[in-house]
Amino acid sequence: MAASDSLPCHLCGHAVVEPVPEYAALRRVTSDCKPWAAGGWLGVCRACGGVQKRMDATWRAEIERVYDEYTIYHQSGGTEQPVFAAATGQGKARSERIVERLVESGLAGSTGRLLDVGCGNGALLRACSRLLPGWALAGTEINDKYKTEVEAIPGVSVMQVGGAADVPGEFDFVTLVHVLEHVPSPSEFLASLKAKLVCGGNLMVEVPNYVDNPFDLLIVDHSTHFSAEVLRGVAARGGVAARVLATDWVAKELTLVGVPSGGQSAYSPASGHFETSLAQVGQRLGWLSAMSRQARELAQGGSFGLFGTSIAAMWLFGELEGRVDFFVDEDPTRVGRTCFGKPVLSPQQAPAGSRVWMALPSKIGEQVKARLTSQCSNLEFHLPPELV
Ligand SMILES: [Zn+2]
Repeated sequence: MAASDSLPCHLCGHAVVEPVPEYAALRRVTSDCKPWAAGGWLGVCRACGGVQKRMDATWRAEIERVYDEYTIYHQSGGTEQPVFAAATGQGKARSERIVERLVESGLAGSTGRLLDVGCGNGALLRACSRLLPGWALAGTEINDKYKTEVEAIPGVSVMQVGGAADVPGEFDFVTLVHVLEHVPSPSEFLASLKAKLVCGGNLMVEVPNYVDNPFDLLIVDHSTHFSAEVLRGVAARGGVAARVLATDWVAKELTLVGVPSGGQSAYSPASGHFETSLAQVGQRLGWLSAMSRQARELAQGGSFGLFGTSIAAMWLFGELEGRVDFFVDEDPTRVGRTCFGKPVLSPQQAPAGSRVWMALPSKIGEQVKARLTSQCSNLEFHLPPELV
């Protein structure tokens, strides 16, 4: 498909978004962890280097289907996915990790007002309620699915069905956790939220980092795939200057904490960012294809399982067309359930001699593999090739 068929960049408005043709061959996955068909479109903006979907009628129709059937954390009956410390296996919910960092960094004091935009079932607000007990909390969501649940969280005074503009008052913190990657015009969206901040207030944005987590590229309902540089640019174009831009608050994610910088700026990234993004995307799609091939070969010989029940494992489950005997998960809220008709087992429950594929980026994968191999010597754990 020619570049001229693409829409302008939804991050910076530049006319040319170069397609990445090999993307269409890969199956995809939804952000609520359901396998999805191949045939998507991915491109890289020639000006800002932003990696993005083409938000045309085809994509919008797909997204509508995804959201119609949306279920948060269906594999664990609604409990938030923990962030596992790779070496120890100790799970800690992502939201708790983020709020701990806000407290440790001195960005959140003992009292204040916080608005969580796109609060879902209230995971971040629940963590704030525990770790910032002196704060007044509010949330917004586009539907009322979890309204009662969120309103029951201690400290939550408002759960608004609608946009941030509908919530009365101003806030010391406005947070967006895994929201911006779904938004059609991210810079305009950030700019609109500045009106909800008190003078000196902070905006916090948490998004997946596709550079550390290539599986993000496969998520059908993510319209933008962020790298640190692109996130900084999106914030700057929205008139938000980054005070913190971290890749290590939550593994494989980006955290930006910023303050209004006055008007919207004409931010231009360092030259060569298009080339950098294009090369990173190419390497990551190649890594995913190689993984799919290798796992497919391995699945042909005897008892075969996939490690995990989240995005990566569900994508691979689709690529393998269901030729998987079981899932292995360390999360006790998932063990004992079934996922798309296959049992979810603990590592100790997996049949002896089975091969287990770990769809993890190599840095994290090596640590998890070493730990599980020492605990379960009767299983064979396999990792994808190294991600360069
Ligand atoms: Zn752009």
